[in-house]
Amino acid sequence: MASLYIHIPFCEHKCIYCDFYSVAPNETASRSELPTARFVKTLLKELDLRAKEERFRVSYETVFLGGGTPSLLPAEDLRLILEGVTGSFSIEPGAEITIETNPGTVNRQKLDAFRSLGINRLSIGVQSFHEDDLKFLTRIHSSELAKQCVRDGYAAGFKNISIDLIFSLPHQTMDRWRANLDQAMELNPSHISCYSLIVEPNTPLSHMVDARQISLLSTEEDASLYEMTIQYLTDHGLEQYEVSNFAKKGFKSLHNKNYWNHSNYLGLGPSAHSFWSADGNEGSSVRWWNVSSIVGYFEKLDQGGLPVAGCEHLTVEQLVEEEIFLGLRSEGIDIAGFRKRYGKDLFTEHRSRLSDLIDNSLAVVQNGTLRLTSKGYMVCDEICASLRV
Ligand code: SF4
Repeated sequence: MASLYIHIPFCEHKCIYCDFYSVAPNETASRSELPTARFVKTLLKELDLRAKEERFRVSYETVFLGGGTPSLLPAEDLRLILEGVTGSFSIEPGAEITIETNPGTVNRQKLDAFRSLGINRLSIGVQSFHEDDLKFLTRIHSSELAKQCVRDGYAAGFKNISIDLIFSLPHQTMDRWRANLDQAMELNPSHISCYSLIVEPNTPLSHMVDARQISLLSTEEDASLYEMTIQYLTDHGLEQYEVSNFAKKGFKSLHNKNYWNHSNYLGLGPSAHSFWSADGNEGSSVRWWNVSSIVGYFEKLDQGGLPVAGCEHLTVEQLVEEEIFLGLRSEGIDIAGFRKRYGKDLFTEHRSRLSDLIDNSLAVVQNGTLRLTSKGYMVCDEICASLRV
């Protein structure tokens, strides 16, 4: 099984906390001045080049339109992209096809169009239902628009709708964050992703922190909000299946699960990353990434080349480390499968550490899989670091 990721590198406005690659119109320009038509034409060239490679002639079970803000593209551009995808690659019937959606870029009519293109999952960037939070984060939409987007999504026939929220905003109290979760629950999403605010280097947010214009919550406050989130969402019938992700039964993101299972994925578009492995052995697992520049992307493909900026062949040690990290962050490590793949036994090498984790209710072994508990998810990074083989 494999996944296809397509990076749409445009946003209406850059949010202060974001370090994903995307271009936005400057203050005097408008959305219509973004080179979207040229981008679609160029993306189709990349798609065509990749589809000619034998190794990518496999069956894809998920397609993810991410960004940036893919929902900013006119439906006609998305139609051209998806026709290119289905014309060049073997997409499984019933494949999960997701579009990241900014509520400020869609209306009911556009969501109807997404549905008619075969898109069957919306990942909606809500971030907060408090207007002052949205203003602080420099989002382009209001709380009401975000709610309307979810309602319109359901009305358009989407059954699989995910909401993204951010917690640990400056001055956020437990009650304010709980009010966000309450409003999310009223919309009955099938999936929620909750991320703690991260200060990425060289973002406007990082400059504000450096200039002491805002102060962040302490590690303890962040941990309390996270702990409450896990309790709240599991009490409301969502299963935590990754550090930041919660889903109703039958609605886990297949695309994300493929990333976390070390499955193959092909990324297209500026800054997109790919991972491809023939059999998991040394030398056969490769990660590469495209240029993070729309100009560079156009130049490379106009000259008939691929827009790859870098590539690394992963060693067995790197694969082992990643598998532990990805497995523990999500639904666990299949102990027998791990031994078979790498000739290493997690329990032989880490018996006392694993016993400690299990004794302290941080991890459990269920059906041959070592997985973290809710308590374990809270200290996932420390646990992963302590299990390096
Ligand atoms: S809309 Fe999304 S991708 Fe664009 S700047 Fe904001 S957070 Fe980043």
